[in-house]
Amino acid sequence: MEKEIYDKYVKAGQIASQVQELAMKNAKPGKKLLELADELEKKTIELGGEIAFPANLSRNHEAAHYTPSFNDELTIGEKDVLKVDVGVHVDGYIADCAFTLDFSGEHGKLVEASAAALQTAVSMAKPGVNVRSIGKAIETEIMKRGLKPISNLSGHRVEQFFLHAGENMPNVESGNYVLQEGDTFAIEPFATNGYGEIVEGGDVEIFMLASHHLRARMPSTRKVLEVIVEKYPELPFAKRWLHNALPEVAEFSMNAAFRELQLNGVLHPYPVLVEKAKGLVSQAETTIIVTEDGCVPTVPVRL
Ligand code: MN
Ligand code: MN
Repeated sequence: MEKEIYDKYVKAGQIASQVQELAMKNAKPGKKLLELADELEKKTIELGGEIAFPANLSRNHEAAHYTPSFNDELTIGEKDVLKVDVGVHVDGYIADCAFTLDFSGEHGKLVEASAAALQTAVSMAKPGVNVRSIGKAIETEIMKRGLKPISNLSGHRVEQFFLHAGENMPNVESGNYVLQEGDTFAIEPFATNGYGEIVEGGDVEIFMLASHHLRARMPSTRKVLEVIVEKYPELPFAKRWLHNALPEVAEFSMNAAFRELQLNGVLHPYPVLVEKAKGLVSQAETTIIVTEDGCVPTVPVRL
């Protein structure tokens, strides 16, 4: 990997790590999720990074893809298990990272399971290692704590301006890809006391542009699409960002625009992912660069 690109990945990771520290400081019971998401996204920009995807603040049996709506009133609960999953990019080079907060202190083992699994995976990743054996080690680390990995969620290759860029990094013994020097992967074990799988929930606040081609029927849809094409052509975005960019578009018009764009295949939705048996879910994630004899986690693993 060219030094210039390596440095951009490392810088994205350093910024993401500082954003995580802000999350640790500011997330507490009673805090509005919307306020926290805004703070994390603002901090990313302040530190000289760009937002790779909306701050995901998924609680309890939600595994991923919850980001607040523009008028979200939800607050963090006293007993919540909160996954803070943020993405920072520098010139398109992404640090995708997550950790879990346990406000009651009753779920230490659950939080530890995903973090220890991530630590193990990072210690194994090097050229010549098959992702299948990393998946197996993740699974073992979680199972030995009496919990289950979420088998239908996985890490993924990242590339410039490309978040899910090909091969997966499994959380169970599956897949078949041999790591090479220069590969960049997000590794993200999820542990649960539930069934061990996620299903799609009904709420969607995160979208990605799938096609530029639409002759929009409604003027407000055209306006919304223009902003998306200009500002978020490649990476996922939050619906609330469109509310902020276009305050003159009323809520019902915004909803109609998103419906029209989705129905026409212009937007790809990322629904909230929930644990099949409503089990509690923890997550730990970092993005690695595979080096000659190991790997560099661009965001330190929080144990
Ligand atoms: Mn993530
Ligand atoms: Mn990821």
